[in-house]
Amino acid sequence: MLSLTRTTAPEILEALSHSRFRARFHLSDKLLAYAREKNDVLAEHARKLLKERLAPVRLHGNDGRQTPMKGHPVFVAQHATALCCRGCIAKWYGIDPARNLTSDELEAAVQIVLTWIARQVQSAPAHSAQKARRTASGAAGAVSGKQLSLF
Ligand SMILES: [Zn+2]
Repeated sequence: MLSLTRTTAPEILEALSHSRFRARFHLSDKLLAYAREKNDVLAEHARKLLKERLAPVRLHGNDGRQTPMKGHPVFVAQHATALCCRGCIAKWYGIDPARNLTSDELEAAVQIVLTWIARQVQSAPAHSAQKARRTASGAAGAVSGKQLSLF
């Protein structure tokens, strides 16, 4: 069992890489471009999204549907790192879904998500970066996607 606060982010990502389901998540060119462009504020976004959607106990029975599959790099990272819902957090990290995450756990989750995004950005081939820049500048006028326009 992984621990959010006692297992390091690289160890957690290593363990997740053996899950076929988790390993199939990747950032699209558009989200890679967004992650590069918004690098300075990604941590802030991750903290806000996880704090609002994940840290509190879900009172209305909609756990498992609070994290979209796309629309923001943090959302994709959450699915890739089993930090998408309290059910997955319980299964992978052994945290009781009936209690709120502690601030230490929340911060650890933020760091795991950010580490996953940073690795996606680093491992993206150069041609994908160029293509993504074109995509990003092309989409800038149109404000691409509802989720991105949140920020
Ligand atoms: Zn989940």
